[in-house]
Amino acid sequence: MEKKNIDWSSLGFGYVKTDMRYVSNFKNGAWDDGCLTDQDTVTISECACVLQYAQTCFEGMKAYTTEDGHIVCFRPDLNAQRMANSCRRLKMPVFPEDRFVQAVVETVRANAQWVPPYGSGASLYVRPYMFGSDAIIGVKPANEYQFRVFVTPVGPYFKGGVKPLTVRISDLDRAAPRGTGHVKAGLNYAMSLYNIVDAHEQGYDENVYVDSATRTHIEETGGANIIFISGNKLVTPKSDTILPSITRRSLLHVAKEYLGLEVEERPVALSEIGDFTECGLCGTAAVISPVGTIVDHGKEIHYAGMGPTIQKLYDTLTGIQMGRLPAPEGWIQVIE
Ligand SMILES: *Cc1c(COP(=O)(O)O)cnc(C)c1O
Repeated sequence: MEKKNIDWSSLGFGYVKTDMRYVSNFKNGAWDDGCLTDQDTVTISECACVLQYAQTCFEGMKAYTTEDGHIVCFRPDLNAQRMANSCRRLKMPVFPEDRFVQAVVETVRANAQWVPPYGSGASLYVRPYMFGSDAIIGVKPANEYQFRVFVTPVGPYFKGGVKPLTVRISDLDRAAPRGTGHVKAGLNYAMSLYNIVDAHEQGYDENVYVDSATRTHIEETGGANIIFISGNKLVTPKSDTILPSITRRSLLHVAKEYLGLEVEERPVALSEIGDFTECGLCGTAAVISPVGTIVDHGKEIHYAGMGPTIQKLYDTLTGIQMGRLPAPEGWIQVIE
């Protein structure tokens, strides 16, 4: 198959319009059959629920080419499950999980020319999302919804080498107890924009949020979960207001089953983060971004950056994803 003429390794993380996307509409209590389309714009009422009350959620995953030349994506069934949970919390109809995976597969397949080749470091980012589309002015859920999947090629995350991040403990909060921090809702991102722009202006790469009830425990950043390493142990915060990262859940399995590390998922106090030697942020985009420094109001805590354990975790999970290492049952969805 002929690939698009793109300099894959120089791509950044930005939207590039590809050939086809998937659309299904929910109306009169049911989803239609759905289809692929070349229409990249959406026309909805000026009063659509998503525009007035932000009734929308999304997912993110990557499709890529493995060492043996297959196009695959990583654990899309978990994205389907997570989106179903987001929908239930936002009073949106669930797009059936098997159809979600099928829609991802069909959209990637229809854009196979846009899937970067093995070894380029680039991948095809897949963005499923849903929104309330009919006119709603009194506060209530929409009656009609659109589910869409588009794809866009993205470049290697660590272009020009790994630069350990400098992050700050945030003074603003991300998620309220019993709120929506555990679902992938657009609203969680809208309210984080002020803080991320401010962090960048102050010279930080990211905000690390603490629990908003007591402000004594580490939660996660605006778009990635956090892991800490100490000796032979991986520690990651446990909290009801953290977004359950598929990368983090996969890394925990890799740590235990492939690397023989001890794994602790438990509340992590702000007062103990100086006890760890390595720290990383995990999510689909980077798999793991090593943290060099956490700044807690003038107090700096330093970590090894891409230290030996984070390097091993990174190499093992990306090895599994790329087909260089055997994957646990069901982790790799072959598309072509
Ligand atoms: C999407 C997201 C993550 C990362 O999840 P992955 O499934 O690993 O990509 C982490 N935190 C937040 C707040 C997110 O929205």
